[in-house]
Amino acid sequence: MSSVEVTGPEPGKEGSSAGKGRELWNWHPPFPMPRSPIAQWPIRPLILLKNLLGGWFPISVKLFIAFVAALTWAYLTPSPDDTRTFSSGWIAYVFFRNLVMLTVVAGGLHLYLYTFHRQADHLRYETRPLQTDSRRFTFNNQTYDNIFWSLASGVPLWTAYEVVGLWAYANGYLPTIGWSDHPVWFLALFVIIPLFGNFHFYWIHRLIHWQPLYARVHHLHHRNIVTGPWSGFSMHPVEHLLYLSSVAIHVILASHPIHFIFHLQSKVLQGPTSHAGFEKITAGTESENGLAIGDFFHQLHHRYFECNYGEPDIPFDEWFGTYHDGTPEGLKHIRSNMKKRGVTRG
Ligand SMILES: [Zn+2]
Ligand SMILES: [Zn+2]
Repeated sequence: MSSVEVTGPEPGKEGSSAGKGRELWNWHPPFPMPRSPIAQWPIRPLILLKNLLGGWFPISVKLFIAFVAALTWAYLTPSPDDTRTFSSGWIAYVFFRNLVMLTVVAGGLHLYLYTFHRQADHLRYETRPLQTDSRRFTFNNQTYDNIFWSLASGVPLWTAYEVVGLWAYANGYLPTIGWSDHPVWFLALFVIIPLFGNFHFYWIHRLIHWQPLYARVHHLHHRNIVTGPWSGFSMHPVEHLLYLSSVAIHVILASHPIHFIFHLQSKVLQGPTSHAGFEKITAGTESENGLAIGDFFHQLHHRYFECNYGEPDIPFDEWFGTYHDGTPEGLKHIRSNMKKRGVTRG
């Protein structure tokens, strides 16, 4: 889509005039973005472990979602006695609980960052506004479009997966473990599940970039070149179905319903944070301290389309020649690979 060079301010500086030509980023991480430690040889186990756990502590979106999943299971999920059989009462309850949960997270971020501008453009990747008068979007409005597809398609399909999962656990159809059986494995699953989710996402994402599926399905998510919190889970119903299908792994992976709930919430609630368009959420415009929410790797995908299909912790993009590290050389590299593949977008 865009054909201008990747230039912009120095990493960590906002709106500086460093670089020639049109500036593309208001803020960006240092370029080149570091390669995944899994893709480097020889493998250094300590660095790998640090990378794996560093994304969790001392505070992170993942940790927050694990906490929310635990609370959801403890206080906001119907009992197995109820979920053993399908009935409209508890299914409606799960639907409204999910509707409220996504609205609080995406709506809260949108209000903070885009309605009240509490952070102005501090640590924002780019300064272009969300579109309010464009025929590209349903209702000609990017935010209304994104809210509509998230709530009208995303929440029902998220709920459908969760309802089937809760029903299957309650009936003993899914292999189940408890905290007291395998405490280490119980905790390890919280780390493994997001990694598996990213592994699955890469392949699903490659599939929906196949032109016939892109034109009918995935283009809806790619209406968003500049992204906001509601863009993250704004997808076509077929994409929602595919995107959340990673939970099928629980058919063979012994787990607890809390893991299943965490798996779905990770996929859904990380959308608003990673698409918010900001590297961190901070308490104002001065401090660099705050909660890391951004995903610049995926931001590059929204700008250049045919690169960075996965997430950096699973280095398929590096292995399959679709990795854009943010530099002009990185852009040349993915464009020459696109030519070889006969891809014209980007
Ligand atoms: Zn996206
Ligand atoms: Zn895509």
